[in-house]
Amino acid sequence: MYEKGRAWIELNQAHLRHNLQVFQELLPGKCLLMPAVKANAYGHGAVWMGRALQQMGVRHYCVACVAEGMELRKAGIKGEILVLGYTHPKDLDQLREYGLTQTIVDYAYGKELASYGKELQVHVGIDTGMHRLGEDSGHFSKIRGLWEFENLRITGVFSHLCTSDGVSRKEQEFVRLQEQRFLQVVRRLRAEGKKGFATHLQGSYGILHGANLSGHYQYARAGIALYGALSEPSKPLRKQFVLKPVLALKARITCVREVLQGEGAGYGLAWRAKETRKIAAVSIGYADGIPRTLSNQGCALIRGEEVPVVGRVCMDQLLLDVTKVSDVCPGEVAVFIGKSQDREIRVEEMAKRAGTISNEILSGLGDRLCRIAV
Ligand SMILES: *Cc1c(COP(=O)(O)O)cnc(C)c1O
Repeated sequence: MYEKGRAWIELNQAHLRHNLQVFQELLPGKCLLMPAVKANAYGHGAVWMGRALQQMGVRHYCVACVAEGMELRKAGIKGEILVLGYTHPKDLDQLREYGLTQTIVDYAYGKELASYGKELQVHVGIDTGMHRLGEDSGHFSKIRGLWEFENLRITGVFSHLCTSDGVSRKEQEFVRLQEQRFLQVVRRLRAEGKKGFATHLQGSYGILHGANLSGHYQYARAGIALYGALSEPSKPLRKQFVLKPVLALKARITCVREVLQGEGAGYGLAWRAKETRKIAAVSIGYADGIPRTLSNQGCALIRGEEVPVVGRVCMDQLLLDVTKVSDVCPGEVAVFIGKSQDREIRVEEMAKRAGTISNEILSGLGDRLCRIAV
């Protein structure tokens, strides 16, 4: 059996393969996936995910920071690993040692990297309206100026869309504006003889809503949807896509007891029994990534029955009201994300109950959870 003693994550490689195929069919044949495996591969485990993707033919990855790139390299991941975030000058040796590609976050940073004295492989980030990272798309002479630094080996130019998850006219118009700004920079660079760099623009929603884009890109940086989840299910999609969740989250019931009418349970006695109830303690808590905002809000599945989280989520444990499930015993399994008989809780539902998005739930799943391929 796959089950572990305390709390664990089950990973489904067939579902990952399915999602990868969905994306490959959406993208033109020449566009390669560059999966985002940052934040421990959205909680799935970067090493497992990197290896699984590698087996499926993926050769490009993106991560948030140098340490994440190092972890993948130490696990034997080959191909290009792009660091999307800022790398402090004191960590530049590691970029070279581990063969990582660094994002130029603006012109001044490019100049700083160029003064490092050794060659670095980089992708140039272009700010087309999100105003987070990248040199301003309007500052063409600065962008072009990056090619004058001998130590920078520029192999990519990219931007990031900030409203591609929306289907409203305003959101989609902004996507088109960002793309036009990006394409203009790319065209001008090529017109000036700057060649040999790849381009990329889309994350998950940029791919799912890709019909609204006009350019052709070499890579697409798929994250959340590759893991079989949407950020917010309440946001309508251009059309339905069948994505299969790669991850399930489960934990053990450790103690079952009756709580008499009028008694409270958990810290602060934040829940009270209106009538006598059967309460189960479960060995998973907010240190494992179950948001504390699910106190008195969350739910789990036991033998296909949905049961509510009662009282406050603790660091390592939480309580479920299991009154409606007959003869619940210590050692039984509670499912927080995934299937239990014919019922399923998707991460999107957990995120909604917690007042956040799937990305935050998944990336917050803790190191203490065992991760098992099923
Ligand atoms: C995280 C990230 C992605 C992936 O985004 P998803 O919405 O999860 O697909 C792509 N590009 C950049 C720059 C990112 O930071």
